[in-house]
Amino acid sequence: MPFKSRIKSDELKILSYSNTRMDLLEDDKQYLSNLKKGFEGEVMFDLLTEKLQCNCLILNDLLLKVNNTTFQIDTLIIKDALHFFEVKNFQGDYYYEDKEFYSNKSGNEVLKPLGQIQRGESSLRKLLHKHGFNFPITANVVFINPEFTLYQAPKNKPIIHPTQINGFMKNFDRTPSKLNSRHRKLAELLVSLHITKSPFTQVPTYDYHSLKKGNTCSVCHSFSMTVEGRICRCLKCGHEELVEAAVLRCVEELRTLFPNIKITTNMVHEWCRVVESKKRIGRILDNNYKIVGVHQWAFYE
Ligand SMILES: [Zn+2]
Repeated sequence: MPFKSRIKSDELKILSYSNTRMDLLEDDKQYLSNLKKGFEGEVMFDLLTEKLQCNCLILNDLLLKVNNTTFQIDTLIIKDALHFFEVKNFQGDYYYEDKEFYSNKSGNEVLKPLGQIQRGESSLRKLLHKHGFNFPITANVVFINPEFTLYQAPKNKPIIHPTQINGFMKNFDRTPSKLNSRHRKLAELLVSLHITKSPFTQVPTYDYHSLKKGNTCSVCHSFSMTVEGRICRCLKCGHEELVEAAVLRCVEELRTLFPNIKITTNMVHEWCRVVESKKRIGRILDNNYKIVGVHQWAFYE
């Protein structure tokens, strides 16, 4: 169980929702695809760190700030030392030249994961120092995708190649460690300093009226949904979900897309479409949220 879990960012959620409900620009689509890929890679790495048996504290996805510099840590594992991991889900053939990574296909896609992790490590060191901690830090870039190849890879850089991950994790797990109250204090401090609203978000502009309404399948995102008794079924992929769960998903979607909106039965009814009875939606909302106000002024929190 990680000390801090990873959750999908609002940015990724908003882009995914708007991709289903409106026409995104090509750039936004590409950006969404990169974000998704990055997140999937991080989750793949989480599956490996979850298996660790050693004494350690795992903090996933930290966004921190020191001296006006904001930096992100994909995974931080606190053992005797601090282990900083930058997870990259690159796929295909790349080559290394002058500290940079180029895509073998186009030759011009330049990526700088080593510079990125170096800056992250240095910012983390400053942050620790500022709060009176002095732990050694190791930092590595993990290439998680099994279909990633790096030609001309340097030997002396902090890179963990796909073929090395299992061996690395085993070795990491075997190294004995002892945690004390300082380690735990640091973990608590980092979680308390974590910035939940990223300043880097890049989401398209949208408004309630321009988004396509209707309940969507949680698996294939199709709008072809039908309700049969307590079950909401996708006519495209056959996925089934309880009506209640589908309605609650709609509410979460609305709250993410419009953080300041007041959730009402009418609005959820319009957003869901597939559930015909307003009474049924009202009951589901009553059971799961707190109602504020009365009659036509009532909304849910
Ligand atoms: Zn489906």
